[in-house]
Amino acid sequence: MRYLIVSDVHGNYPAIMAVLHQAQPYDAIWCLGDLVGYGPNPNECVDAIRSRDHLCVAGNHDWGALGRADIFTFNHDARVALLWTQDELGESERAYLAELPTRLQIGEFLLVHASPRQPLWEYLLDVESAAEAFLHYEFRLALVGHTHIPLLFEWREALGEAVMLMPDYRNPIYLGERRLIVNPGSVGQPRDGDPRAAYAILDTEEETIEFHRVSYPVEITQERMRARGLPERLIERLEMGR
Ligand code: ZN
Repeated sequence: MRYLIVSDVHGNYPAIMAVLHQAQPYDAIWCLGDLVGYGPNPNECVDAIRSRDHLCVAGNHDWGALGRADIFTFNHDARVALLWTQDELGESERAYLAELPTRLQIGEFLLVHASPRQPLWEYLLDVESAAEAFLHYEFRLALVGHTHIPLLFEWREALGEAVMLMPDYRNPIYLGERRLIVNPGSVGQPRDGDPRAAYAILDTEEETIEFHRVSYPVEITQERMRARGLPERLIERLEMGR
């Protein structure tokens, strides 16, 4: 099976549509949460995922949009966008988000938005927090989002430590017997300095993970954000990928 791994779509419809198109062929989508928040098309993004064969976990912004997470845990711009999203969400899209689990274990694969320890909130950006995840949770491959930074952590059993690896966009990465935590990066609001939408493909027959980027019309998303009065800083950062 070829799984399209997407995370942090954040209401950016042109970005998710570019990914869904370029990533073909795939058998199903695994979505790591934050379908909404920040961006101008939350309903369209929910519908784009739920109308396809998929599994999805909840992210902190999804909970923010549902009123389940304290809105003051978010920074000012995120909060403004979440309050707008709360008003904008349709009845059935809200019901869909409300049903999402916070973690999914599929055999040896674990899907969470942020980390195995704190599925909605922890930022896995260093080897120490990655080591905690490897030591205390059972998985061969954990798929996470939340930081909007594509990267991998590998568990080195003999050394009892985790190492951080940068994604390779030219070659598929062979999984082998290793235990890994993989972050595909963000579809709708990349923060690694590359404004293109990020995603990954997990091929369970080839035993590989591929990292990918795809350009999308950033200016269309920006125009829609301006028309909806969303914060200027969120609009500008899209073209910088920061
Ligand atoms: Zn996010």
